[in-house]
Amino acid sequence: MPDNPILIAGGGIGGLTTALALARIGQPTILIEQRTRIDEVGAGIQLSPNASRILIDLGLGPALAKVVAEPQRLTVRSAKSGKVLGRMPLGEAMRGQYGAPYWTIHRADLQTILLDAVRGSDHIRLAFGRTVAEIEDNSASSVTIRCDSQSASESVTGKALIGADGIWSNVARLMGDMSKPEFHRHIAWRGLVARKDWPTDLTSDETGLWLGSGAHLVHYPIRRGEFINLVAVTSDPDNQPGWSRAGEPSTLQKRFSSWHPDAVRAIKAAQEWTIWSLFDRPPRSQWMDNRVVLLGDAAHPVLPFLAQGGALAIEDAHVLSAELSKDRGNPITAFAAYADLRKQRSTKIQAAARRNGDIYHMRWPLSIGRDLTMARMNLAEHYSWIYDWRYS
Ligand SMILES: Cc1cc2nc3c(=O)[nH]c(=O)nc-3n(C[C@H](O)[C@H](O)[C@H](O)COP(=O)(O)OP(=O)(O)OC[C@H]3O[C@@H](n4cnc5c(N)ncnc54)[C@H](O)[C@@H]3O)c2cc1C
Repeated sequence: MPDNPILIAGGGIGGLTTALALARIGQPTILIEQRTRIDEVGAGIQLSPNASRILIDLGLGPALAKVVAEPQRLTVRSAKSGKVLGRMPLGEAMRGQYGAPYWTIHRADLQTILLDAVRGSDHIRLAFGRTVAEIEDNSASSVTIRCDSQSASESVTGKALIGADGIWSNVARLMGDMSKPEFHRHIAWRGLVARKDWPTDLTSDETGLWLGSGAHLVHYPIRRGEFINLVAVTSDPDNQPGWSRAGEPSTLQKRFSSWHPDAVRAIKAAQEWTIWSLFDRPPRSQWMDNRVVLLGDAAHPVLPFLAQGGALAIEDAHVLSAELSKDRGNPITAFAAYADLRKQRSTKIQAAARRNGDIYHMRWPLSIGRDLTMARMNLAEHYSWIYDWRYS
């Protein structure tokens, strides 16, 4: 058992990055994850410079560079006409402007790299197959939690608890927040296409964003460009939670049949789809209770219309470890400073993502105004407040 550890509930992007950031300042952790193993289903994630910078700083740059793709630009198109509505340079332009890359990566590759680094650290103990079920004591000097596994329950004590347990956070509930995420009436379809099966005349080294009525489509390369990741988001009354429900390809193809032929071919190229209902919640008013604090989606889930939920969790990890390194003896002070520093930015990004969802899915005739505005917009300038974020 590590000496005077901090307990982390949840081994997603937020929990794993937090464990690594705390290991770097010499703070031992016990990472408790309910799943027995971490296996991400096939899907990609975009890592913008505000996040890639932190992962590189944690020493993960060389491992990531072997598996990422680096799209050259974002191209926004009209779903019906295929007309280009806007462009934003990525690739070298991002590195030049923000000193860090805009990468796209398979989630399984990201998880493997984070997990390998966690396993290689003497400061982190991994406890898989255990659910953080109860906070038994949250007193002046320590926190004790009850962890349940299939065969037993055990009490674990640490100097603090970080709830990185996702949008349905049990830690938040144990802190007294009984509110539930609300179904956003949209579902995300996620598919993968091997580069060799991608229609040859469609660009594969860019992030493509197609805006339609009540739906949008995103595609970008992952795993050194060997695969193209597709995410199609549609308005839908279906609201079952879960990552990996199988989606019927013909349903999606029908839904997109009136789109530009290039978008239709992109959709048809994916043989399998998984579907994920999108949930949202207003910003939480309470992020901490004495020695317990929330991080990542547990504190502030972000709808995927800005590709920033994972990035924010990575930023959280960085800020929390920086604050803890200032005052090791007293996590309460560090947690208060962290919550103070993160609330405004995460609320602003949550709101911007919601707004993007409305804009992306605008129906005619509002979409005419949207398209005209987008044609005049400098997207790089528009998003620089997100990508240029730093904290040291
Ligand atoms: C379609 C889609 C596309 C997206 N694209 C992007 C993108 O391009 N870029 C980006 O930055 N973000 C993106 N996001 C958002 C991103 O995936 C999330 O914000 C991010 O994964 C949140 O990480 P987390 O670690 O906070 O939570 P999670 O990933 O939800 O991890 C929580 C972990 O806690 C575990 N857990 C839960 N309860 C307990 C418990 N009681 N005890 C122990 N363990 C527990 C879970 O098993 C899980 O492993 C996207 C999201 C969606 C839905």
